[in-house]
Amino acid sequence: MGVRYLILSDLHANLEALDAVLAAAADGWDQVLVLGDLVGYGADPNAVVERIRSLNPAAVIRGNHDKASCGLDDGEHFNHIARFAAVWTEQHLTPDNRTYLRGLPAGPTAIDARLEICHGAPFDEDHYIFDAADAQHAFEATQRSVCLFGHTHLPVVFGGSGAQVTAAVPDRDLHSLTLEADSRYLINPGSVGQPRDRDPRAAFGVYSTAGTFIFRRVDYDVAGAQRRISASGLPQSLANRLSIGR
Ligand code: ZN
Repeated sequence: MGVRYLILSDLHANLEALDAVLAAAADGWDQVLVLGDLVGYGADPNAVVERIRSLNPAAVIRGNHDKASCGLDDGEHFNHIARFAAVWTEQHLTPDNRTYLRGLPAGPTAIDARLEICHGAPFDEDHYIFDAADAQHAFEATQRSVCLFGHTHLPVVFGGSGAQVTAAVPDRDLHSLTLEADSRYLINPGSVGQPRDRDPRAAFGVYSTAGTFIFRRVDYDVAGAQRRISASGLPQSLANRLSIGR
């Protein structure tokens, strides 16, 4: 039946969302892959990093917020709220978790002959893949036929065969995609901790080497995550956006 990878991206220190995802995914996976942005925005960077470390993932790559929260990037190109959150996160990370984040590799990272992962794009870890032109550029930058990415917080699948690139947004509920052997795919599972597709539920995916990708959404304790943010001194807008999924 192949190896089943639990795909987690853009967790953003949202422990309530991560725990709901892990409960919903239960034992339906064999290995974990993390596509970056473990921290930033949310109130529980240490607990989220420690939960991920406890899962002993097959691969974890860094995101732009991870870099900005551990001194690898000055966050100069961040908006002021993101920058505030990065500074707050850096002040609250334990030395051990900060060292862990500093040691995360930049993507892309090859998982096997068919699969690779990146945070933004395979040609630039900080680039956003929003449209077919970005996807075409990404397909040209990699030899592997399946590339999983994050960063935009928007679930999407781009398909490519020859010069044609198609884009599709997965259904809002369980959506299983069959990966054809002669096609190429760029897949974003969506964000665990800060969804931006107007659906507040946590998003994640399960990739199977047998040739499927399953998009999933799960309700979580949004109010609890919001209370944690409000009590932490982080900007209130970071709490507010969780309930509208933006
Ligand atoms: Zn992110």
